[in-house]
Amino acid sequence: MAPVDPHSYTDSAHPLTTHVSLSLYFDFPSSTIHAAALLNLSSPYTGQLSLDARSLTVHGVLDPQTLAPLPFTLSPPDAVKGSLLSVALDSHASVLILYSTSPDSSALQWLSPPQTFNKTHPFVYTQCQSIHARSVFPCQDTPAARICYSAKLNVPRELSAVMSARHSGRRDPVAGDVSEGFKKVDSAAALNFESLWCGDGRVVEEFVMEQPIPPYLFAFAVGELGSREVGPRTRVYAENVAAVLDSAASEFAGTEDMVRQGEKLFGEYPWERFDLLVLPPSFPYGGMENPRMVFLTPTVIKGDASGAQVVAHELAHSWTGNLITNINNEHFWLNEGFTRYAERRIVEVVQGEERAILSMGIGWRTLNEAMERFKDNMEFTKLKTNQEGIDPDNVYSQVPYEKGFQFLARIERQIGRPAFDEFIKKYIENFKFKSIDTDTFLEFLKANVPGIEKEVDLKLWTEGTGIPPDAYEPVSDLYTTIVSLANEFKLGRMPREDEVANWRGQEWELYLENLPKCVEASQVLALDARYRMSESKDYEVKVAFLQMAISSKCRDYYPEVEKTLKEVGRMKYLRPLYTALVQGSGNEEEKILAKRLFAEARECYHPIAQGVVESILAKHL
Ligand SMILES: [Zn+2]
Repeated sequence: MAPVDPHSYTDSAHPLTTHVSLSLYFDFPSSTIHAAALLNLSSPYTGQLSLDARSLTVHGVLDPQTLAPLPFTLSPPDAVKGSLLSVALDSHASVLILYSTSPDSSALQWLSPPQTFNKTHPFVYTQCQSIHARSVFPCQDTPAARICYSAKLNVPRELSAVMSARHSGRRDPVAGDVSEGFKKVDSAAALNFESLWCGDGRVVEEFVMEQPIPPYLFAFAVGELGSREVGPRTRVYAENVAAVLDSAASEFAGTEDMVRQGEKLFGEYPWERFDLLVLPPSFPYGGMENPRMVFLTPTVIKGDASGAQVVAHELAHSWTGNLITNINNEHFWLNEGFTRYAERRIVEVVQGEERAILSMGIGWRTLNEAMERFKDNMEFTKLKTNQEGIDPDNVYSQVPYEKGFQFLARIERQIGRPAFDEFIKKYIENFKFKSIDTDTFLEFLKANVPGIEKEVDLKLWTEGTGIPPDAYEPVSDLYTTIVSLANEFKLGRMPREDEVANWRGQEWELYLENLPKCVEASQVLALDARYRMSESKDYEVKVAFLQMAISSKCRDYYPEVEKTLKEVGRMKYLRPLYTALVQGSGNEEEKILAKRLFAEARECYHPIAQGVVESILAKHL
């Protein structure tokens, strides 16, 4: 009896779930899902089976064959892991759980019509990484337990549903959809379930996922959706607003080229479809690599190369992350470091080496900033981390991405690109559909690249803190020019217009990243007077500028800060802006502003982002 994951109640002595069948009834007025989950285990089990649950109301647990009730207990929630749902089994290989989600389910954001683009229909979507699938259905919520699933989503007829799974049909609901078990359970939700399910104006969307995935890749969205074809295996979905769909379709027109490039690097694309879903602006991440259907923030649609780089990243996850998965979040770099490396290899081919080097340069800056953020908590500057008692959302950073990238780039420099490419292909082939840890990777590396441990200090890279001395700051003419222009700003010289004539968002982002965080307010005003960054449509540029404006106490820009924090919910922007407002001393006005803005904007953020902002405010106020 041992835990397999610091973030899950899953027990190593228990059989793992292999398949889940879900029936989900979406009740938009109450922001609740009433549901049945049938879990199939890898073998029959006798004893207490441990499952993860978070803010679920469990109406009953039944033997799916006999519909006899099975005794269960639901523990009070742990702050990080949520509740332990413990079910008494007696040679059972499956279990049926009838439950409802809560309106504050941490994976789900329920948007009222005014919070959407089209303003006329509600919308709901999931974000299950890292440990939020348990707030949608009870499960062994660890990447160590890979599951296949099928799902019936009962939604209002005017809406449609998409999932990270194959769509197998849309039809009228029938009474037989509803588990007989619901009739055996004595609770209000259960009594009404069949009449709810077959109610007027409802439709059932069916999905099936036949490839085993870690639970954090379970995903759906329900709303008034439209789509555009952009490639032989790619359709872009978004709310059914022509302007949104058209701009998304043109932004992502080059997707098929990237998929082909990914295949050259890693082997055949393993998930059949590579569809994209553009979400409302509250989506907390840049993208989420849900298999078959990547979820994206609308902030990546800006008509330049960086939107495609986010897609390249999520695409690369199709192999590194989704096919080979970190066994738990302590080894998150295996997902993100590999994917950042692969993303840049794809970018290098489809956008050119210069773009890839700019991306590395921005990464180098963010890695150094992450080191600064964790200077009092060096554990999280390691690749392999100890996350016992730690909420992964609170320590999410660019370290696993950029230090992981640096580690792999270091190995590549040692053995040369052809050998490294061959190694990656072998690695993927060997571990596909498996969840692994850092030591497993290192053993495989040493076995396939003999003597590597004598050339590269593998232990220092994976277990050491900080940035190893053999990490590598990228160099190119453009990169060097931008960094030296940023250094000249510190001496009072602003770049001339001819020097920045060809700059796009990424050049400006790198320039701003290399400026001191705090300068004279007059310098902030002068820079913006010439280059209008506070009005940039590119949030990377705008947010980097506003962050400097706040740190420099240039209060002219606070209305723009307010506007930005109220129109987007991507944590990449919320984190630096709220942090700049509340950290340090002598900024009482800024702290009051932060509190007010969060109170007013909170509802527009996904629950994960709400939690992250709360923890930033709690740390500094
Ligand atoms: Zn990623």
